[in-house]
Amino acid sequence: MDIIIADDEPVTRLLLEESLSSWGYTVHAAERGDQVLALLEGKPEIQLLLLDWSMPELSGIELCKVVKSDTDLIRYVIMLTSKSGVEHVVEALDSGADDFLTKPFIPGELKVRLRAGCRIIEQEQKLQLYANTDALTGVLNKRMILQCLEKEWSRSSRERGNLIICILDLDYFKSINDNYGHQAGDEVLKLFCDEVYKQIRPYDYFGRYGGEEFLLVMPMAKQQDCLFIAERIRDAISNAALVLQDGAEVKFTVSIGCTNIHNDDKSVEDATARAESAVYSAKEAGRNKVVIF
Ligand code: GH3
Ligand code: MG
Ligand code: MG
Repeated sequence: MDIIIADDEPVTRLLLEESLSSWGYTVHAAERGDQVLALLEGKPEIQLLLLDWSMPELSGIELCKVVKSDTDLIRYVIMLTSKSGVEHVVEALDSGADDFLTKPFIPGELKVRLRAGCRIIEQEQKLQLYANTDALTGVLNKRMILQCLEKEWSRSSRERGNLIICILDLDYFKSINDNYGHQAGDEVLKLFCDEVYKQIRPYDYFGRYGGEEFLLVMPMAKQQDCLFIAERIRDAISNAALVLQDGAEVKFTVSIGCTNIHNDDKSVEDATARAESAVYSAKEAGRNKVVIF
């Protein structure tokens, strides 16, 4: 587990670095409050912080408030300070700290408090996973993919970057269930998602929009790449096959409707409506097709 330790006192910092490394943590050390924010930038995997109270630039208390203001991220903060007294404990916890320890600390106590923090982080991660992902396929669920779309839509409007939105709807999926059974249908949905994942970038968002309907959100993708990417996905799906226990192969195809966000879109619904209409046209055109609106 990654951990940030922030303390402006070199001796304490060194002592903490040594102890925590020997307990198996990957330590990122900072001597000023602002360095902590720099270390956290773009690193959601750093979830455990051990902060001194008084530090130059930004105090541990101010840091706590900033770190806890992003409620999408899981971050557990322990204040480690020479300040004692219940009024300081209250102020720290009130600022968002999860735990409080006074210096000089007893190594054995710090060790178990960190372990308690790790347990809570793991539980929160599990809850977040259950709340945000689709149980069958593991891709984002509808609530989460729409939240990501909304966020990326605001960002691209602000930064004038492009955003590609695709709706992917499996073709004749009902007949897969009818011919091979619901279980095989489920396996096709999982395989479909795995195949799509191979074709997209780590910062694209892919989620289940309905039963056999999925939404792909690609931030900062070039407008002219839209057809190329969607075609690549369509082609990969048409080449995939689920192999059943008796060796029989279940083939399947997908229809894809895509759109780029427009400057005059009033809301994300304007864009998703275009993608819906494009996927409808792809179905009309015979399925296993890509249509760009
Ligand atoms: P089209 O090409 O027009 O999209 O036809 P379709 O058969 O794919 O579409 P339709 O909407 O008629 O049927 C969708 C089917 O998907 C019906 C539903 O039972 C099935 N389905 C929805 N969710 C699941 C699921 O989680 N597992 C399985 N196995 N089937 C599902
Ligand atoms: Mg200090
Ligand atoms: Mg369908």
